[in-house]
Amino acid sequence: SKKPVRVAVTGAAGQIGYALLFRIASGEMLGKDQPVILQLLEIPDEKAQKALTGVMMELQDCAFPLLVGMEAHSDPMTAFKDVDYALLVGARPRGPGMERADLLAANAQIFTAQGKALDKVASRNVKVLVVGNPANTNAYIAMKSAPSLPAKNFTAMLRLDHNRALSQVAAKTGKPVAAIKKLTVWGNHSPTMYADYRFATIDGQDVKDMINDQEWNANVFLPTVGKRGAAIIDARGLSSAASAANAAIDHMRDWALGTNGEWVTMGVPSQGWYGIPQDVIFGFPVTCENGEYKVIEGLPIDAFSQERINKTLEELEGEKDGVKHLL
Ligand code: NDP
Repeated sequence: SKKPVRVAVTGAAGQIGYALLFRIASGEMLGKDQPVILQLLEIPDEKAQKALTGVMMELQDCAFPLLVGMEAHSDPMTAFKDVDYALLVGARPRGPGMERADLLAANAQIFTAQGKALDKVASRNVKVLVVGNPANTNAYIAMKSAPSLPAKNFTAMLRLDHNRALSQVAAKTGKPVAAIKKLTVWGNHSPTMYADYRFATIDGQDVKDMINDQEWNANVFLPTVGKRGAAIIDARGLSSAASAANAAIDHMRDWALGTNGEWVTMGVPSQGWYGIPQDVIFGFPVTCENGEYKVIEGLPIDAFSQERINKTLEELEGEKDGVKHLL
């Protein structure tokens, strides 16, 4: 049987953690033949550590055959020791009266420390996914704090936006989600992201022609996908933790096991693609093969799309400027 891999999850006692850990342990992320060791990080706070103990008791009680080890940590330097995968879920939420700059600063501190720890103790091939918001900027901070690891190992989650866009296109066209190919989401994981179905096809037919409604695209589709998180909080009274966890599973599974040529969306450090400056963590269409992602290059960008891409890039550059002095 396969050698176990080490998977770190931060914010492990949180809402997303609760929807995520059981699926990693059951093999949904890395395959039903891949044993895993979970290295769980929570803040040193007594309540958080106790809650983490409770989650671990439940994980034990599932008796997952693939879960061959499990550890609780309060220090990233031990939590990330030799990890092959790191899902950085824990982040500082916006508190009452907290300014955007305070939020960025609090998270810069967390992700600087975590980036440094990954740099020192993680596997040199570690695959890092940042879920905690502001995800793209947090991933950028971690990447910049880990100079000895390849920049390409640091990614941010755009997959929830991608999946939300898929489900809206499926509902609009009356076709199954699985039939939709070549959809993507550009930019920041925030309401400024640009979900783009210009290249999408269903059974070889162009989705753009099937929908043929730019008014719907600009005034219904994009706001619906962009504000979906807020709509779920409004309906449920709680945030979209299960779908966020699901997207994290999708992202890591596809990165590790491949997409068979299908496009998915990942937030990855730009190498100048589509005029996005070097190292900006940006949502791009990618395919994955042999544990590596590859950005789809050379797609035509029309005026409407360029305007949307510029807007989400501008937001990301603003976030980046806001943390520059903290790096
Ligand atoms: P959640 O598990 O609900 O959310 C964790 C992070 O994921 C937040 O930053 C959240 O962003 C983000 N996120 C991204 N996409 C989504 C989505 N679609 N829906 C909801 N959240 C999304 O938060 P909890 O407060 O339940 O748990 C966080 C845990 O992390 C706590 O147990 C806390 O102790 C821990 N923590 C750990 C830190 C560390 O590792 N150093 C630092 C801070 C907290 P948003 O804020 O925008 O909702």
